[in-house]
Amino acid sequence: MFRVLNRSTLVGSRNLLLNQRSTTSSFISRNYCSTTTTTTENNNNNSNNNNENGNNNKNSQKKKKRGLLFWGGAAATAVASLTLLDLLVNDDLDIITDKFRHRLTKEEMKDRPNLVILGTGWASLCLLRKLYTDRYNVTIVSPRNYFLFTPLLPGTTTGTTESRSIMEPIRKYCRRSDADDVTFIEAECLQVDPVKKTVKCYDNSAVKGEVSEFELPYDQLVMGVGAESATFGIPGVKENACFLKEISDTRSIRDRMIDCFETAGYPGQPDAEIDRLLHFVIVGGGPTGVEFCAELNDFITNDVKKAFPKHLTDRCRVTLVEALPHILTVFDKNIIDHVEKKLQSSPTTKIWTQTAVTGVKEREMIVRDAEKKERSVPYGMLVWATGNAPRPVTQKLIQSIGPEVQNVRRGLVVDEYFRVKGADGIWAIGDCSVTPLAPTAQVASQQGRYLGRLFNDISEDLHQKKQGQMNDQEFTADLKKKPLFKYRHMGTLAYVGDKSAVFQIKDADNKTTTSEGLATFLLWRSAYLSKCLSIRNRVLVAFDWTKASIFGRDVSRG
Ligand SMILES: Cc1cc2nc3c(=O)[nH]c(=O)nc-3n(C[C@H](O)[C@H](O)[C@H](O)COP(=O)(O)OP(=O)(O)OC[C@H]3O[C@@H](n4cnc5c(N)ncnc54)[C@H](O)[C@@H]3O)c2cc1C
Repeated sequence: MFRVLNRSTLVGSRNLLLNQRSTTSSFISRNYCSTTTTTTENNNNNSNNNNENGNNNKNSQKKKKRGLLFWGGAAATAVASLTLLDLLVNDDLDIITDKFRHRLTKEEMKDRPNLVILGTGWASLCLLRKLYTDRYNVTIVSPRNYFLFTPLLPGTTTGTTESRSIMEPIRKYCRRSDADDVTFIEAECLQVDPVKKTVKCYDNSAVKGEVSEFELPYDQLVMGVGAESATFGIPGVKENACFLKEISDTRSIRDRMIDCFETAGYPGQPDAEIDRLLHFVIVGGGPTGVEFCAELNDFITNDVKKAFPKHLTDRCRVTLVEALPHILTVFDKNIIDHVEKKLQSSPTTKIWTQTAVTGVKEREMIVRDAEKKERSVPYGMLVWATGNAPRPVTQKLIQSIGPEVQNVRRGLVVDEYFRVKGADGIWAIGDCSVTPLAPTAQVASQQGRYLGRLFNDISEDLHQKKQGQMNDQEFTADLKKKPLFKYRHMGTLAYVGDKSAVFQIKDADNKTTTSEGLATFLLWRSAYLSKCLSIRNRVLVAFDWTKASIFGRDVSRG
């Protein structure tokens, strides 16, 4: 029974199990089938959807790609056009073509003419940038191993731009390729001997080695030494005034100015002494004097007034002294009126025209006004920003050539190719030369570029001349066939303070166009940014301007 029962139970249970299994299996299979069916349907739907999605994805990817290509292309075109425009505006298009020219090998470079360039300013550096340096044995001598972007010097005194941002290491331009290295020597040229064809130089830096003087022979010499500030022999100027020519000048002006404020704040400082200390005088109403005056005004109004006590800043005065009846005489009358009004609208600033400074003492200056009356005026800081005078090395060269041909005291008289008259193999460009053009960076840079290209053009002639295969007459006859220098005036700009600048340009018919205000200020900034010689300088200057406008300028000393 048990067995039957068991068996039957077993059978039953087996059947049940089978049934169950079949049920389960059918269930499973059904389910499976249905799942399969659903999946297949889904798959079909999905694949349709996927196809659609895939198509959509592909389309959107294509769109994205096209968008990227478009914007990438637009950005590349913009950068390329800007670079091209920059090269065009700065007359640097030949940078591209120069890449493909034949360079002389080291062997071919032997016995090339010795070309000595004095100075690392606008004229010399612009020449160097254009020069095929493999055609000459080039040596540069200058007491400073950097180029200085002088138009932004006034702003550096107040911290609108940092000094490093407007300096460009000259050694960057000396090493180009193994074949055409340029030698740079940091020294001051004391004297040029136009007969022996040598330059005598000495190390005027703080660190001196066993050798601190040397003589250098040249076949061709370029004078690009610029000029120094003219003091017109007025007693006490050299000893007591600050100048605005070099980067070290900006530091001493800034130090002195802040020191005046700090000293004026001493407890018990007498009123008259506070007035003296906080009287800042600028002598010279040309573009440099006006731009410095404008920067000083901005600094006092926007930064010093926030940092120093009111009883001090209220007594601060800025005086711009000019011997002529007006300041900024290079500009038209309407611009002059605008600038005079603008500067004097500031409560701190006064302009004294028709006033000559006749002496400068440690704490006071002597002035003679329009009525020829002399009086003494106490000051805390006096900045001398008048015209140019030749440097001692230029004066000595003028003397050694003689007054028959070198008869202008302002600088070296040159012919239409910038050859110094009365000397063989000496050329002069920039502020140390005398031409009908104003002594500006614009002129010096164009002269430098011209002479660089001319030297490329006449390199074989000069090589043959050195080898004695060409005489002076033949050389001059060849030179006369070369194009003459043509100056391209891009207009005159000056910053006049409070985010305002003035601009003036004359066309071929002598018709003058002028502008002033905020838009001109933006033009001024973009023009000088584009004139910076490297991208590094441009970025640093733009960064300085942004930093100063967000955080203000630093009023600390040192
Ligand atoms: C504050 C200021 C602002 C200015 N702003 C503008 C402006 O906005 N626009 C404009 O067009 N012009 C401006 N100028 C004028 C412009 O800077 C000059 O015209 C220009 O620098 C002249 O170029 P340069 O190469 O002849 O002389 P510099 O640029 O002065 O260069 C002379 C070079 O010769 C070197 N040197 C000096 N003595 C010797 C020596 N004995 N031996 C060897 N090397 C020597 C110097 O170290 C320097 O490297 C400004 C000038 C100043 C001072």
